[in-house]
Amino acid sequence: MTAIAGFFAPWLVYALVIALQLVVPARRVDGYVRDGAGNRLHYRLNGLRVFAVILALYFTACQLGWLARDFLWTYRFESLAGACTLGLVFTAAIVVGAPPVRGTVADLFFGRRFNPQYGPLDAKMSLYLVGAVMLALNVISFASHQALAFPAAPSWGMFAYAGMFLFFVGEYLFFEEVHLYTYDFFAERVGFKLGWGCITFYPYFYCVGLWSEADRPSPESPIALPIVAVVVFVAGWVLSRGANLQKFFFKTRPERGFVFAPETIRDGGHALLVSGFWGVSRHINYLGEIVMAIGLTLALGRPLDPIPWLYPLYYIALLFPRQADDDRRCAVKYGALWTEYCRRVRYRIIPKIY
Ligand code: NDP
Repeated sequence: MTAIAGFFAPWLVYALVIALQLVVPARRVDGYVRDGAGNRLHYRLNGLRVFAVILALYFTACQLGWLARDFLWTYRFESLAGACTLGLVFTAAIVVGAPPVRGTVADLFFGRRFNPQYGPLDAKMSLYLVGAVMLALNVISFASHQALAFPAAPSWGMFAYAGMFLFFVGEYLFFEEVHLYTYDFFAERVGFKLGWGCITFYPYFYCVGLWSEADRPSPESPIALPIVAVVVFVAGWVLSRGANLQKFFFKTRPERGFVFAPETIRDGGHALLVSGFWGVSRHINYLGEIVMAIGLTLALGRPLDPIPWLYPLYYIALLFPRQADDDRRCAVKYGALWTEYCRRVRYRIIPKIY
């Protein structure tokens, strides 16, 4: 019975998130991408509030003894199987029936619809929200398991790891609107990659370090290690969030700038930032994301264990090819202006190195 409950746990969480998205008061904003008629898409954003309600429900259920604090850890394989199944069902539902784009297999993987919206729900924003919420619940439950299993020697690194991951999710939801200006929205369709990715990969793989660490005792690493890990994480966050906000303000209210004066290069119709984060490398935000992942991995306190390193390695595998794709896209869109930008800002991701 509980194994079945484990299988359907993500289904329940995702249904609850969607229901809350519909009823919790939201901000209404115009996005960056446009529909076929050239109008900006509208969004209802309430991710942070939905997240807060889910956390409140989760902790209340645990407090009242209705839910074991480490339920999602105990039934992690069933829960993963449930999420995986749902991700496949979602992929089929969103792709089949839409007009073909390439071949069937490519369409299933990359998707056919760009920015599907159903009434007040935007498919991409809902997918990111369900993934973020489930990731946070997995992190809390997995980390709780270690604290329950080894109460005599709790791990400071585990506290730091869980705290940083909850911050990672919470601040993403706080800046939800900024996400509307990213590659996923203007360049990606909704298929297996984005759909299954958000429903299964994001909430279960991102905490891969916990899969190997949560049932092991504290590594008893020196307290300096989690402190260094937090410093590394914060440094990565400054790079990533700083660059994203600088670009967001540049696109939404270019006259005001963000921390740095908005120095730009221009042609007749386009402008590109060449100052601040965007003057250091062309994708310093990607470096920031990788550095944050390294901070999270170090916090677990076993730097020689290979499993937690899969998380930063995943970012390298995702973001280096994405930088090349984005460069190609920008070269087409901006033409000579992009060539000029590349001349002025030579490094792609890592200043002085790459
Ligand atoms: P960017 O935010 O770097 O967006 C690239 C786009 O920004 C370009 O296509 C171009 O779009 C515009 N641009 C590029 N250079 C300039 C410039 N100099 N001045 C003004 N505009 C410029 O990339 P992503 O959308 O891929 O990533 C957004 C964030 O999401 C990053 O921080 C990334 O690390 C993060 N991310 C996080 C993931 C996670 O799982 N946590 C996964 C993937 C990404 P335009 O044509 O509109 O001008």
